[in-house]
Amino acid sequence: ARRHDVLIIGGGAAGQAVTGSLLKRQPDLDIAIVEPSSEHYYQPGWTLVGGGVFDRKQTVRTMRDVMPSAVKWYQAAAASFLPEQQRVVLENGEQLGYRILIVAPGLTLDWDAIPGLRDTLGRNGVTSNYRFDLAPYTWELVNSTRKGKALFTQAPMPIKCAGAPQKAMYLACDQWQRSGALKDLDVEFCTSGAALFGVAAYVPALMEYVDRYGIQLDFQHTLIAVDGDNRSARFKVVDTDGETREVDKPFDMLHVCPPQRAPRFISESPLADAAGWIELNPETMQHSRYGDIFGLGDAGNTPNAKTAAAVRKQAPVVAENVLQALKGQAPRAVYDGYGSCPLTVERGKIVLAEFGYGGKLLPSFPSWLVEGTRPSRLSWFLKEKMLPWIYWNTMFKGKEWLAEPEILNHRPAEHEVSTACDF
Ligand code: FAD
Repeated sequence: ARRHDVLIIGGGAAGQAVTGSLLKRQPDLDIAIVEPSSEHYYQPGWTLVGGGVFDRKQTVRTMRDVMPSAVKWYQAAAASFLPEQQRVVLENGEQLGYRILIVAPGLTLDWDAIPGLRDTLGRNGVTSNYRFDLAPYTWELVNSTRKGKALFTQAPMPIKCAGAPQKAMYLACDQWQRSGALKDLDVEFCTSGAALFGVAAYVPALMEYVDRYGIQLDFQHTLIAVDGDNRSARFKVVDTDGETREVDKPFDMLHVCPPQRAPRFISESPLADAAGWIELNPETMQHSRYGDIFGLGDAGNTPNAKTAAAVRKQAPVVAENVLQALKGQAPRAVYDGYGSCPLTVERGKIVLAEFGYGGKLLPSFPSWLVEGTRPSRLSWFLKEKMLPWIYWNTMFKGKEWLAEPEILNHRPAEHEVSTACDF
């Protein structure tokens, strides 16, 4: 089997960001990436596609354009791991060896977990910003739905970009308010969760918009089936007394956030924790049981918000610790759990949620510039004009502005990271 110093599984946000950080530190490092897709998607842009702000073409590039020329790209899917032999098996049976393995295959959107859903996506008023091909249909529906009932669902945690289901709803409501249709629409947010957002500090600003748009909040409502032809959605509801029942809700428009899980080849591998995600030390991003394996991005079990913003901070930490490991030394760089969720509460304004482990607020900007818990125009500008550029031109190029890793002068102590937060 061919053997590389660093083998990376996945060339999405996490795989590319860690590659950029590694190459900046050591340009001649022998790196290979296993990535089956011919396209790379800027998924954070899909909210703005669904909100009629971006064209979907702005959110995709060919993988060849994104892949650095200094790395060897295997266009194939990884299928299983042989950690004792330092090897990965690809779907075509080929094996690749490594000195250090970085696992970053993202997560799986489980559309088929909801009977009836897949067949009706893209028609009968059923859409989702979680897919490149469907986000434009969201905007189409927002413009064609003038009365009746609009449902926006949110699947159980963990999900990527936990704010995305709400963002879709607020941008739709903003448009309906502008067009005068909002008064003839019943808008419901049906979430599996028991709160509007996992970090309490952001809830008051969001509640102002819930009131402004007249949104009904349905907590502990989990979508379990869709009947597209009859425009009806079935929910499992947990009542305050803990009793469970099922309710059917008719809809004119349904925006779905699908259930999400670790990819099967991860959950069925020795790398997984009990819930199926890659078992990582939340500070060093090193595997809890294999010292030569690291992980980052949505497939990891670290209790941060699953976002590209988290990846931006994780990548330099992993790069530092991988280079240490190649020298036979212990990891020293630590990640604080930073993640960010720019909540698009109206066209032109964002509540910029930025927080780390345990829900600790970690604002990037001083409060006189951006008050993170309040709607801000500057944050919208950041999301629309700056973040896509930062993604392609700094995050993937090892330019770690506002993302320099914290490096300890001792090995981090094993200690509990607070997970007292919904993410
Ligand atoms: P991905 O970027 O999904 O990449 C995974 C890669 O692994 C893919 O290229 C895939 O082809 C590859 N892969 C899969 N299986 C295999 C295999 N078997 N072998 C090899 N490779 C494989 N984040 C923010 O920071 N801010 C936002 O505002 C935001 N909004 C979002 C809105 C929506 C609608 C969505 C869907 C996401 C949003 N995100 C946002 C989240 C962000 O896109 C993800 O957290 C980020 O892309 C995670 O990076 P990743 O590399 O782990 O996964």
